[in-house]
Amino acid sequence: MSLSAQPPASLFIDGQPVEGQGAALPVRYAYTGEVIATLHEATTDQVAAACTAARAAGPAWAALAPVERGRILGRAAAIILARNDELAWLETLDTGKPISETRVADWPSGAACLEYFAGLAATLTGQMIPLGADWAYTRREPLGVCAGIGAWNYPSQIACWKAAPALVMGNTMVFKPSEETPLGALKLAEIFIEAGMPPGVFNVVQGRGEVGAALVTNPDVAKVSLTGSVPTGRRVYAAAADGMRHVTMELGGKSPLIVFDDADLEDAVSAAILANFYSSGQICSNGTRVFLQEGIKEDFLARLAERVQAVHMGDPLDPATTHGPIISPAQAEKIRAAIRAGQAAGARLVCGGVGEGAFIPPTVFADATDDMSIATDEIFGPVLTALSFVDEAEAVLRANATGFGLAAGVFTQDLTRAHRVVAGLEAGTCWINTYNLTPVEMPFGGVKMSGLGRENSAAAIEHYSQLKSVYVGMGGVDAPY
Ligand code: NDP
Repeated sequence: MSLSAQPPASLFIDGQPVEGQGAALPVRYAYTGEVIATLHEATTDQVAAACTAARAAGPAWAALAPVERGRILGRAAAIILARNDELAWLETLDTGKPISETRVADWPSGAACLEYFAGLAATLTGQMIPLGADWAYTRREPLGVCAGIGAWNYPSQIACWKAAPALVMGNTMVFKPSEETPLGALKLAEIFIEAGMPPGVFNVVQGRGEVGAALVTNPDVAKVSLTGSVPTGRRVYAAAADGMRHVTMELGGKSPLIVFDDADLEDAVSAAILANFYSSGQICSNGTRVFLQEGIKEDFLARLAERVQAVHMGDPLDPATTHGPIISPAQAEKIRAAIRAGQAAGARLVCGGVGEGAFIPPTVFADATDDMSIATDEIFGPVLTALSFVDEAEAVLRANATGFGLAAGVFTQDLTRAHRVVAGLEAGTCWINTYNLTPVEMPFGGVKMSGLGRENSAAAIEHYSQLKSVYVGMGGVDAPY
């Protein structure tokens, strides 16, 4: 059966589907490689048209009462949840991720984010500052046109995570999905219009990196929020600096998961599975360096290898499938090269390996050293590297010995140790006795090379707004002459 997911047009500008006038962009289903849609990139003029539409829509959108903006986001969330099955199917075609995941993780997380910021809308206020007889106040104002640029692993969730705080604050947005996964953001644009959002508030352009670069440097753009790799983040941050644009950078990681010998072993193994193999390992916050305290190392690895046997690799549209294909042959090749490098460096392959075709099975390396590439580089695939340690101080020191700082986890039954270790870890998001849970209520983001700014929670509002201070003179003006 041939699958088709052709959208009405490739771009969405000023409330309308618009065909891209640039190069063809075939969208392939990662499982079979078949082309499920053919889109066209935006030209530089079309990127500019999207930014012009976003700028023009800004003043009226920002002038609405926040609760009205929130109501529209809330309606969009309700539409998403009502159509979750259909949207999950599309997300699976776009990404290759199993439908068992896309039904529960992708659009539902996007909807939760829209609901959260819909509720927050009416609470957005400034501050009143008494100054004796005089006083001052602050106004929290939108930045203007925000550019959102997404990665391919959670395309619809990323679009919602960026749009919700931006739009609720009265900004408008031009969003560019990854060229690998262009379909979800177009659906979001349609849903927003259906929910009553004015044309031009949320626009979508498609294309490869150059289209993203044109967007970042467009003079109308006041803020850039990128989810992507560190090298792209560096380029985008530098380009944004030229116009003194605000940035949020959600970048890559090589996060540590530290398991002490008093941990609940079964839970720690479950967390290691979630931290490495969900979405076939294509998750930025994955705990890919698993530090095991010496005494439990072999038991942990044996149990992990046993549990991994139950993985169900195969057709992503089969609800029983728990492990899907890698997004593209090129990405699969990069992961395979990383696995081969681990073997060549002398690490022990506990289970998994290079796999076949689009599939790479859950892969576990042990007896690695901290300087092997499997322990230093982000692989962005289902590859876990186990390292062993003797004591707490050593574990924290080695966990922090990386340029990345996105996330970290610790498993222990010792309450004080858990909090002490977390306090010492250089990471933006930490988990104690669990891993990779990112509810919208909790800020999410990285430190060091893993990024700047925070998504989700009330903290995200700070990254999509600026303060205006207003001094109010209540008496006469005293001048020296
Ligand atoms: P990339 O960095 O390759 O691309 C990210 C986005 O930036 C894509 O839309 C890409 O377009 C675009 N882009 C590329 N070059 C430029 C440029 N010069 N100017 C503007 N935009 C540009 O990342 P991937 O898509 O490969 O995603 C994987 C990476 O994302 C991993 O490193 C992962 O850790 C990180 N990530 C981080 C998350 C976080 O929240 N911290 C969450 C998810 C992923 P195109 O793809 O069309 O080239």
